[in-house]
Order: sequence, then structure tokens, then C-alpha cells
Amino acid sequence: MACRGCQVACKQWNMNPGTKTFQRGSHQNPEDLSFSTFKLVRFNEIEEEGTPKWYFFPDQCRHCLEPACQSTAESLGSKAITKDEETGAVLYNPKVKVKAADFKTIRESCPYDIPRWNEKTGILAKCTMCIDRIKEGLLPACVKTCPTGAMKFSDRNAIVDMAEKRLAEVQTRHKEAMLANAGDVRVIYLLVDDPERYHKFAVADNTIGITRKVALRRLFTPLSSLRHWVG
Ligand code: SF4
Repeated sequence: MACRGCQVACKQWNMNPGTKTFQRGSHQNPEDLSFSTFKLVRFNEIEEEGTPKWYFFPDQCRHCLEPACQSTAESLGSKAITKDEETGAVLYNPKVKVKAADFKTIRESCPYDIPRWNEKTGILAKCTMCIDRIKEGLLPACVKTCPTGAMKFSDRNAIVDMAEKRLAEVQTRHKEAMLANAGDVRVIYLLVDDPERYHKFAVADNTIGITRKVALRRLFTPLSSLRHWVG
């Protein structure tokens, strides 16, 4: 129902400040993800035969199984992004500064256009899967707060099973329904319509996510230093 409770809970738990914003003629508020907005409900209004149709999309890091952001950062010699092996959470390091050009390359490599950067501090930021909560057996703040139970959190296999069962139910009414890149990510969306209607980056075509620049660097880098890509 797009109440944005998840967006607010994310800000509260991470102690991120509010974002100055203004009315842009839609409910979109704030306009985009930022280094202090890790989760954003995107609003898209499409008019069909004179009737407005709303598409809501709670955008955030997908915690990819093979995170392109991490491999790109490592190719640039940066430890700004790591993966927690126990949970699979893809984490940013708040102590590692990233140069503007490197951040641009890292962001471009993300198939979902997620990482953001603070130009004053040089720190990159994004959703952490609420690693500090889940290590204590708590749900991520966004999942915990959702009053409709729109989000579920569990081990990946259990979630994939649940998503496939729910998809089969939904497809009886919405033939186009799909699971977005379910084989590649830990945050799986069930979409009932054309993904483009929700958000440009709702579904990725290229989930490997490497840019031409990174691909070229990989070609000319000694194999021994690329173990994290091929191992
Ligand atoms: Fe990294 Fe983007 Fe995947 Fe998140 S969605 S893990 S930022 S590549």
C-alpha cells in the first residue's frame, strides 16, 4: 500500500538523517536513493484508458550472490565493499574512502544502480541487510515494521520456495507475474506486470554488471590477482 513505513524504519535504525525534499507533482519523496536513504519506495503512475494505475517498488540493494559492486571495488584495489559469508549480506565499509571516479565505476557496475556516495566524506553507502539486527536474531527493520507483511525474511532456500509458491498463486490472476532475477539475488521481488512499469532497474538484463572499463582491466590484469573472480 506504499505507506513508506519500511523507508522510515530504515532511516531510524541506521540513524540516517531526513532528506530535504519538495513536491514534484507525485508522491515520490525523496526523489532518489542517497548515502542517507538506503531504501526508497518508488512511485510510478501510468494512465491507461483514462484511469491512473499505481506501481510501487521498495528499491534497495539486492545483496547479489556474486556482487558486481564488490568485484569492481576489488579490481580498483578498494576494500570499500565486502560480503559477510554467514549471511550473504553485502556490506560497505564506513572507514574506507572512495575516490569520485572509482565510485562512478562501482555504481555503474551495479546492475540495479544502488550504491550512493557522500562527496564530503568520500564514503559509499547502501542497505546493509540490517546485519547488526540479523546477527542478533532480529528481522531487518523494514521487514519488522511492514504492517501488511508484504516482505518476508528467512534463509534463501526457504524464501525461494515461498516466492515460487506465491508466484504460482498470483499467476492465476496475473499471467505476466515474475520473480525478478531470483537466481542471482537475495532480495527477490514478485512483480505482477512489466518490470519497466515499476522502475528502470527493477530487473537487470546483465546481472554480472561489469562495465566495459572493468572488463578491459580484467583482460589486462595478471590471473593470480583475479582469484576472487574465478575462484
Ligand atoms: Fe552490489 Fe548492486 Fe548487488 Fe547491491 S544490488 S550487492 S550494490 S551489485
